[in-house]
Amino acid sequence: MDFKELLKGNERFVKTADKKRIAELSKGQKPHTIVLTCSDSRVVPEFIFGCGLGELFVVRVAGNVACDPDVLASVEYAAEHLGARDLLVLGHTGCGAVGAACKAHGKGDGNIGELLGHITPAVEKAGGLEGAAVEENVRLQMKNALCGSDVISHLAKEGKLKIFGAIYDISTGKVRPVGE
Ligand SMILES: [Zn+2]
Repeated sequence: MDFKELLKGNERFVKTADKKRIAELSKGQKPHTIVLTCSDSRVVPEFIFGCGLGELFVVRVAGNVACDPDVLASVEYAAEHLGARDLLVLGHTGCGAVGAACKAHGKGDGNIGELLGHITPAVEKAGGLEGAAVEENVRLQMKNALCGSDVISHLAKEGKLKIFGAIYDISTGKVRPVGE
């Protein structure tokens, strides 16, 4: 599929879209949930949670890591200025980033090396097992969001932002919660 076909897809979207809702949302957004998840093409929050335009404030980065200042700022913006009350850190089975972090043993060059380094503590806690590392990585990034952002930790302390973790199973489409 190339860009031309994407544009055709957009034409189809515009034809069938809820124009009233689009017009309403053009005046402002009030998403209820921030979803920090992986960039993986199989993990599409709006699809898997049955949500429409304007409902989810989605931040996607490989390995759903909450370390980059831009990622944290995006979460802060949605929580502080758009009034989102929930933050969901959503990992997924078969995550390429977590898998690579398991194989890299804490080593790696360039930008990818840096990203994998953000996942390494979860891999170590999981004893190098990929499935367990996906789960530990969700817990780790929930903690990183709190530790790396005064805004997020303050809102969480005041009860204005609840933080949840979950894993999406790419083989079944099901989401299961992850406890702290
Ligand atoms: Zn992934």
